Parts: sequence; structure tokens; C-alpha cells
Amino acid sequence: MCGIFGYIGDEPAAEITALGLFMLQHRGQEACGIAVSDGRKLKLVKELGYVKEVFYQERLEELDGFAAIGHVRYPTRGTPTVENAQPHLITTLNGPVYAFASNGDVVNYRNLREAYEKKGVFFDSDNDGELLGRMLVYKMEREGKDPVQAVLELMGEVKGAYSALFLTPTRIYAFRDPWGFRPMVFGKTDGGYAVASESVAMDIIRAKEWREIEPAELLIISKEGVEGVKFNEEELRGGGRRAHCSFEIIYFARPDSYQYRQFVHDKRILLGEKLAAKDTVEADAVVPVPDSSNFMALGYSRKRGIPLCFGLIRSHYVGRTFIKPTQSIRDESVRQKFNPLYKFFSDKRVILVDDSIVRGTTIRKIVRMVRGAGAKEVHVRIASPPVRFPCRYGIDTPTYEELIANRMSIEEIRKFIEADSLIYLTVEELREVLDYPEDFCYACFTGEYPVLEGK
Ligand code: SF4
Repeated sequence: MCGIFGYIGDEPAAEITALGLFMLQHRGQEACGIAVSDGRKLKLVKELGYVKEVFYQERLEELDGFAAIGHVRYPTRGTPTVENAQPHLITTLNGPVYAFASNGDVVNYRNLREAYEKKGVFFDSDNDGELLGRMLVYKMEREGKDPVQAVLELMGEVKGAYSALFLTPTRIYAFRDPWGFRPMVFGKTDGGYAVASESVAMDIIRAKEWREIEPAELLIISKEGVEGVKFNEEELRGGGRRAHCSFEIIYFARPDSYQYRQFVHDKRILLGEKLAAKDTVEADAVVPVPDSSNFMALGYSRKRGIPLCFGLIRSHYVGRTFIKPTQSIRDESVRQKFNPLYKFFSDKRVILVDDSIVRGTTIRKIVRMVRGAGAKEVHVRIASPPVRFPCRYGIDTPTYEELIANRMSIEEIRKFIEADSLIYLTVEELREVLDYPEDFCYACFTGEYPVLEGK
């Protein structure tokens, strides 16, 4: 998971981009970067850390220019280093300098990298954003292709997820993979154009209008205007269907975003209602594990007529729990992140609603915390199906062993997390909630990967 943002227009591009990235901070907290163009040369700043720490005002003022692309990084491929942060600057011998940033994971990364290394391309990082950027530049500079042809050929070669921004001295090329794994929107402002991973970034820059970029669509954006090219997505997929990430709706996206032709918060409420519809347990309170399950708990509470109570208070100064790259940092984060409301849980039968269970370690600590605060029953309700398979398209659920639902039955998980009862949604119930369910990926629940290396 990562977030990308790009802007061309009358406003200082780096400042608008920093603002957009700030709204996408939930998509990646390890590193961030902005590349900016003044029409002739490109400048880049990227560092480990949060947007508001890296891009303070004086630094932004040094990044003068009318076009910029930016990135917030959440590590899936490559170690947490500045080299693996994005955007990547790509220099050519006598030609211009380019910059590239993307969100997603390329499943045939190894094969493609080896193939391009054999052609004489050098890489500075282990990051698939760099691979995609260098592929484009190779096609343009060494093979003489125009950028549209280069993007089309890239789409034919690359398997997997990428919502991408390519910055030249005068243009931004924005495109999305033929499966449409990761979200991407395009908007118009007074005097400019913007592209972002999520629509919330359009809200903060006061975009007058915006829309989603289609799978296999390319937008060529300059100060003068925008041209769109829609490639044949079915042909580029080689058969098969679209594969929007259902986990974005469940967990990753902000609830105030609109993506994959639906409002995220609406769907989260419906997921909670779905859970409630099949539940009969008696309880005194419905408590969300904040923040991503707040709307699910609201839906559950309304449907069953059990009061919704914010019994757990979350610190907003600790990163998202499973975004942290090592288990020891992750454990520390959980303890610092949640605190139960004083006396609230005393002698209560509680329904804890969470969006998902990945490793099981966070929810077990929370169940213990709630019991320690006096709850006499703790019933856990999960508004998604069991996560049994690793994601190959940009979400950090890296190994089978780490996924609790891959090695345990639901009853074993219940015992492990020390809950009185445990209910998940089924894949069918998740599909019933989503609009256009046939266009989604469910591989981390089903193991049916929509695109694999070589296919
Ligand atoms: S495998 Fe899961 S997390 Fe990955 S893209 Fe598919 S639905 Fe999303």
C-alpha cells in the first residue's frame, strides 16, 4: 500500500502536492517524497518520515515549479531505506530527467528486472516503482517510442497492481493497471489539475470536479489541458476480469473516500449490518476497535438495537498497527495505541467489532485489555472474511505463517484471542455488500489470485 498525488497548475505545485500527500498519510507512513518540475529541470526531496515532518514550509519553498508528483510509502517490496522511497528520479545520458511514483506490487518484478538488466538498464533500488519508471524511459529514449506507445507496451508486459505517475519536464502521465487493483482519481481545480490515490485528497485542494481513472486508462496532463487514452483493458489482461482490492473498502481507504464507484463509509456500515443480521448474542454494548471499524460497529449497533459505545480510546500519535515493519515494533504500538474507558466495561457483556484479523496479536491484546477493565463477556465480530492468503498486489500480509486464519480454524482463533465467541463475515456476504462485486479481488480470503506471474 502507498499513496500517490500529482498536480499541474497555477499554484505552487510542491505545496499542493504536500497537502494532498498529507491527506493520504494513512496509506503509508514510512517515507515520503516529492519531485517537482519548473519546465526545464526536476528536483526531488524524499526522506523517511511523515509528510508534515519532511515537507516543512521552507523546504517546500525551495521546491519551486508548476508540476509535481509525490508519494507516501508503505513498505511491501524492499527494505525501509531512502533509495526505496519514491518518487524515483531517472536521468538519461543527453535527454531530460524524469520522475516516477506508483502504488501497488508487480508480480513479475523479478523476471522483468532481469530482462531489463540484460538490456543494460541499471537500478538503484529494489522497488517496483523504479522498475516501471525505467521501463518507460528505456522504451522512450532507447527505442524511440512516444510516451503513449511506451505506456501501452508497459501495460502489456507488467502483471500486477500499479496506479502510477510519470513526470516529464512539462507533463504528468497518470495511468492505472488493467485490473484496477488500486484506486486513483483525477480532478480539476481553479487553474490546475490533480491526480490522487483517494478522493479525500481532492477535498482538501478544493477540486471543483473529479472522477475515477479507469483501469488501463492513461491521462496526459499539461498546463494547457488533459488528453485521455483508454486502452483495451480486457485484451491487456489477457482475459479475466477487473480486480479492485476489496480490502481497501474494508480497511485501507479512508471512510470519507469514494472509490471503485462506491462510498467507503456506506459500505462499512453495510458490512456491520450484515454481521448483525446473523448474530443473536445478548450484549450490553457494541464497541468498535477504532478507527477503521467505527462505521461497521455503527451499522451493527443500529441493526440490532444495542447501544454503540466508544469504550476504547485510540491514540492518534501511533502509526497503524500492521503497517509497522517488524513484530517487536508492532507489539509496542498496540500497547501504546488503545486504552479502555475508565469503569465503562465493568460487569458488561461487550461486542467488540473489528474490520479484520491478520495476525491475531492485536485483537488478543484488546480482548485481554477489555476483560482486565471488568467486562464479563467479550464477543468479537469481524466485518470481513478470514484472511487466509497473502496479498501479492501491494498490501503487507507477507507470509502464510503469519496469517492466523491460515493455520487455525475459527474456533481455534477464538480460543487464541480469548474471546467468548467469534463471528466473521463470509466471502458471499462481503460480495453482497459491494457494488459491482464481480469486479473485485478477494484473493486474500479465497486464494484465487486474479493475476499471477506469467499469466
Ligand atoms: S489479495 Fe486481498 S488485499 Fe490483496 S488486492 Fe486482493 S483483496 Fe486486496
